Amino acid sequence: MTFTYDEWKREAAGLAFRNDLYIDGQFVQAASGKRFETVNPATGQVLTDVALGAAEDVDRAVQAARRAFDVGRWSRISPGERKEVLLKLAALIRENVPELALLDTLDMGKTITDSSTIDAPGSAHFFQWHAEAIDKLYDEVAPTGGRDVAMIRRMPLGVVGAVVPWNFPLDMATWKLAPALAAGNSVVLKPAEQSPLSALMLAELASRAGLPDGVLNVVTGYGQDAGQALGRHPDVDCLVFTGSTAVGKLFQRYAGESNMKQVWLETGGKSPNLVFADADLDAAADMAAFGIFFNQGEVCSANSRLLVHSSVKDEMLDRLRDRADKIVLGDPLDPSTTMGSLVDAEHADRVMGFVDRAKQEARLVCGGERQSFMGSDAYVAPTIFDNVEAGHEIAREEVFGPVLAVQTFDTEAEAISIANHSVYGLAASVWTRDLGRALSVSEALVAGTVSVNTVDALSAMTPFGGVKQSGFGRDLSLHSFDKYTALKTTWIKF
Ligand code: NAP
Ligand code: MG
Repeated sequence: MTFTYDEWKREAAGLAFRNDLYIDGQFVQAASGKRFETVNPATGQVLTDVALGAAEDVDRAVQAARRAFDVGRWSRISPGERKEVLLKLAALIRENVPELALLDTLDMGKTITDSSTIDAPGSAHFFQWHAEAIDKLYDEVAPTGGRDVAMIRRMPLGVVGAVVPWNFPLDMATWKLAPALAAGNSVVLKPAEQSPLSALMLAELASRAGLPDGVLNVVTGYGQDAGQALGRHPDVDCLVFTGSTAVGKLFQRYAGESNMKQVWLETGGKSPNLVFADADLDAAADMAAFGIFFNQGEVCSANSRLLVHSSVKDEMLDRLRDRADKIVLGDPLDPSTTMGSLVDAEHADRVMGFVDRAKQEARLVCGGERQSFMGSDAYVAPTIFDNVEAGHEIAREEVFGPVLAVQTFDTEAEAISIANHSVYGLAASVWTRDLGRALSVSEALVAGTVSVNTVDALSAMTPFGGVKQSGFGRDLSLHSFDKYTALKTTWIKF
């Protein structure tokens, strides 16, 4: 499917938004009757107003989820039957890629090229992968011997609360929902307030695929109210979260102050990208630019720190400036645009705050300014800072925008030490032609994922998540099922 700019604009104008809560298989109003506006950051215009869910609505959704779980029409059917429904959902997502892609692009400003070729097809792929996996996972029988059989089985947990961010609205929801649902749980999902629309459409598609009422509920609203209510609900068994480290810590507190529900966090990052002198500098520059500028830099695993050997720094910077110059900032609906708007003007203010403070400490190589299109100033040009030092704010804090901090090193030990000097540990990259160095440096880097001679390698087949204050627990791969199941041991004497 390749649409022109005019065709995407026409499709966008013809969209009918789903904008109420989705509870127990129905679109319903919030108990308070209140609504909030969701805005297209690329133009600053209101897209629609969405039901403002809060504690009472979360409670209604959790009750529906619990009823559905207890009735067993999803939780107790065979994994093979769940697979069939989720494969239908994957097919429906594929049929609706243009609409799902438009919802994310309009809601949060990512390019239509990315949302229609990466995000929406990715969601279908992740549902399919987890669906296909679930009837291939065998349980265990312990080698007890004697007149005993001890079975160790994976059981669904019950009601899962999922709270997700706005940077990949459909995919972050999918990373939680696909394994949670495949394992037989019921889910209450709270999308980010900036990007609620694709989750509501996804819930409708899931019902069309045959998911029983109450198994997937979506409560749109603010984190402070709906998110907190889910985190504190006494009948939620497990809370999975992707978002900022600060809010992740709140969920641990909510759990501790309520029912001690399991909490699994995927939070922030400040991922280092290490370029040694023997690296293929052209490839390294291409991918370093992708690693920080993809999705406007609004990526938790963005390679936001470039650590380059001092002997090749100037060559790398020349190449990086060239890659940054080629980026086309503009209307996300235009297929020739390669960088869209940030999620909202408020976030652009925040990113520009980091940029303005960095200008006092480091050397601006390119970018460093805000831009306006179509009446919105939520756009920030691709920005690179050189001469960054370990103590600088730009080397320590997550900007979540298209801003790269360049530091240099002279020895391998120094590179590792700078790379690990962070409260985060989500991802890291290493560029070298020396296999021994690639392996020893990868081993020394404290991160959930290390990519060698590429950045941010990712697949449904491999676990994704962090260590330190980037969180714990893993999305994707067979390991994702660990979060959504409890082991149950049953002893039988005969
Ligand atoms: P955020 O502010 O932490 O929000 C994430 C979700 O938490 C949203 O649904 C939000 O609702 C909700 N929330 C906010 N305050 C809450 C509270 N007091 N109680 C309960 N829930 C609350 O993060 P964001 O700004 O949307 O996303 C950017 C952050 O996400 C970055 O720090 C990034 O690193 C991280 N991220 C991490 C990963 C990963 O896999 N590690 C992936 C993507 C993003 P509202 O929308 O209403 O605020
Ligand atoms: Mg929006």
